[in-house]
Amino acid sequence: AKYVYDFTEGNRNLKDLLGGKGANLAEMTNLGLPVPPGFTITSEACRHYLAEGAEPDGLSEEVAEHLEALEAQMGRRLGQADDPLLVSVRSGAKFSMPGMMETVLNIGLNDESVHGLAKQAGGNDRFAWDSYRRLIQMFGKTVLGIDGERFEQALDAVKGKRQDTDLDAGELQGLVETFKGIVREETGKDFPTDPREQMRLAVMAVFDSWNAPRAILYRRQERIPADLGTAVNIVAMVFGNVGNDSGTGVAFTRDPGSGRQGIYGDYLQNAQGEDVVAGIRNTIPLEELERIDKQSYDELLAIMRTLENHYKDLCDIEFTIERGKLWMLQTRVGKRTAAAAFRIATQLVDQGLITLDEAVTRVTGDQLAQLMFPRFDGGAAKQKIAKGMNASPGAAVGKAVFSSERAVELSEQGEDVILIRRETNPDDLAGMIAAKGILTSRGGKTSHAAVVARGMGKTCVCGAEELEVSTRERTFTAPGGVVVSEGDVISIDGTSGEVFLGEVPVVDSAVVEYFERGIQDDDLVGAVDRIMRRADAARRLGVRANADTPEDAARARRFGGEGIGLCRTEHMFLGERRQLVEDLVLASTDEDRQAALDALEPLQKTDFLGIFQAMGGDPVTIRLIDPPLHEFLPDIVDLSVKAATDEATEKDHQLLAAVKRLHEQNPMLGLRGVRLGLVIPGLFAMQVRAIAQAAKEVPGAKPEIMIPLVAAVQELESVREEARGILAEVGVEALIGTMIEVPRAALTAAQIAEAAEFFSFGTNDLTQMAWGFSRDDVESAFFPKYLDLGIFGVSPFETLDREGVGRLVEIAVAEGRSARPDLHLGICGEHGGDPDSIHFCHDVGLDYVSCSPFRIPVARLEAGRAAL
Ligand code: ADP
Ligand code: MG
Ligand code: MG
Repeated sequence: AKYVYDFTEGNRNLKDLLGGKGANLAEMTNLGLPVPPGFTITSEACRHYLAEGAEPDGLSEEVAEHLEALEAQMGRRLGQADDPLLVSVRSGAKFSMPGMMETVLNIGLNDESVHGLAKQAGGNDRFAWDSYRRLIQMFGKTVLGIDGERFEQALDAVKGKRQDTDLDAGELQGLVETFKGIVREETGKDFPTDPREQMRLAVMAVFDSWNAPRAILYRRQERIPADLGTAVNIVAMVFGNVGNDSGTGVAFTRDPGSGRQGIYGDYLQNAQGEDVVAGIRNTIPLEELERIDKQSYDELLAIMRTLENHYKDLCDIEFTIERGKLWMLQTRVGKRTAAAAFRIATQLVDQGLITLDEAVTRVTGDQLAQLMFPRFDGGAAKQKIAKGMNASPGAAVGKAVFSSERAVELSEQGEDVILIRRETNPDDLAGMIAAKGILTSRGGKTSHAAVVARGMGKTCVCGAEELEVSTRERTFTAPGGVVVSEGDVISIDGTSGEVFLGEVPVVDSAVVEYFERGIQDDDLVGAVDRIMRRADAARRLGVRANADTPEDAARARRFGGEGIGLCRTEHMFLGERRQLVEDLVLASTDEDRQAALDALEPLQKTDFLGIFQAMGGDPVTIRLIDPPLHEFLPDIVDLSVKAATDEATEKDHQLLAAVKRLHEQNPMLGLRGVRLGLVIPGLFAMQVRAIAQAAKEVPGAKPEIMIPLVAAVQELESVREEARGILAEVGVEALIGTMIEVPRAALTAAQIAEAAEFFSFGTNDLTQMAWGFSRDDVESAFFPKYLDLGIFGVSPFETLDREGVGRLVEIAVAEGRSARPDLHLGICGEHGGDPDSIHFCHDVGLDYVSCSPFRIPVARLEAGRAAL
């Protein structure tokens, strides 16, 4: 295999092999943009290294060849004493994982070449020693695994209240000695001075950083597969830390927060690498570069236009200016907020860069779902205490916490928390995941907090500089002397950047207003509208709702639902009707039982009337009663306690006996669904009659009667027989079908289809039964471990497991249709609202998905995307 690619050999389509960073560095090189030369070691080499614990054969030779070619091109050798070539060794996986893995700059410096570097820069000793101390610091932390704090503290000790740029050559040289001492102390060895050895060790450290705990956590959060590995980029160094005519920056081609066009970025003079995002000094807005270095600024803007036109999308970039010369160090299609995604997609259509179909594929259901989150009520009284940058939109309310650990702790206790930091770093990731929102007092829109929060779709206000944050005292002080301590509730608005004391009430978002009432009053809603119309026109899948009440049914319709795919009837047996259910269960004679059923029937009829009326002529799939009966009876412990007292009545004793009799070891696999209908005479008949009579009163009503938990066609046949009789008697037509949620039903679908006019896949139960675990018991018990072990990348209850459960669905679809070509097919498990699962439903040829009313727009969009 070929393990190393020169930047001139790669291109942007090779992300699997070269990682995003490497592929895009190659793409920019081939576009003729000013990229320092370099090469990429493939992620395949990394996978080999991680699996075997050693580099693949031939890798070191290939790297040596490419290094020699780079040296020849640059006219200097790596670490050459009098005129050194220096390189960076940079991680870069297929999917961007901001700051999660490692990069080492200034490889090739040692006690000799540091003088050569100073000479190269016209006798600039300060710069050379600054670069050297940075190398030992980064190398020590990343490659040698020394706690970064040790270097930080040594640096702070010299720096005092000054900034890093105030240190002179002598002080920096002294720091180099101190840092070397730290390395000796911590590792028992000297800092490695051989440039090639430095490079080799750095490459392996980058490979290893794929499995750093924070990288693993980030991948799980972002659902990035665990086995991809990272590529490694070796790039000739260019220097932003030579003096004030140099610097480094990050920029976006549009605002990643709103999607609006303009100039968005941060710049820092006399700085290197991470300085911009790490917040060591305050950055300046990119516009100000125009004043400092107009030529580089103009060139940068031109390059950004080139990149946007080339990638036909928002790009983010890293650049460095070395003594007036601009260098591009990275680009990629940038992360953005949900609102920006919709705006940008439609703007690009208007600019003629992409088609509307492409625009639909550029946005996701998850992004749409984010736009449907509530926002703060503009009319509510609120106490604003600060304003920062609107880094990632949303309205978050929670208790103030000042450390990642505390955020995790409190959220595990069920508290909503807002994580407050001066600035975040990759070690705060767990806390950021746990928090409802993130607030920082330092850093701009390109800071770590902002980038990561946007990626996660989490509310974030950053750079609220008026706030004095003390993580030690766990407080922050706002202007006017307002002090917020840990545990105090605050509200943050990631859309406006405002911070409020106390809990601010929330209201529907503009996008929900649009779906609910057709209100279209801003450009974001306009963008959503265009994309939704196109998605609706493109999709083949119908979208129905899981709704049990007239209110839900009505909302589902407003949101674009085309019927009800699952109307559960169990809640209709609760509340005041519990009494009637108890009578039904306790009935010892046919007469008693019939009396109980007769009492329930008119109530059921009213339930169905409301739903048919709300749905007009759209189909309503009603599932006959499904859960185990004891769920409707009093708790066995409560009953036992009561039965032991004098107050207990005859009925209490009877109830206790009944509950004991009905108690099941494993109710999920017990007396429920169709089994219940067959065991309790008259129960299903009562429900069917109530449905038929309600339908008769609503012209155009389209009932579909759905039998749950069928495993054998015989079960369905006997229920169907009776139901047909009742329908004929009342004079109403209805489809009769079944859920497919028991593996046996999927495997005998051809037989079952003979007796069913439709199938609806109940993938919650199908998943439980296919895997043989009960959802309620396993999600906290061992799923985290399973996710760790990579047994699944995401819970099979969240996203349909294509290989296993999906296979059962495929079999049932094929067999069912072969027996009955016009068999109607849908899904009503919670997967019906999950983007990945919706794509599966499209691929496998279902007719519709059904999901909760609030997910309907998401399902419409994803169904459209699946078809395009
Ligand atoms: P990350 O993936 O965390 O952004 P990078 O590999 O991009 O890490 O590098 C970290 C920082 O170092 C970035 O700011 C990058 O621009 C800078 N950098 C990387 N390589 C070079 C180089 N050859 N010359 C100058 N700066 C570099
Ligand atoms: Mg980078
Ligand atoms: Mg079920």
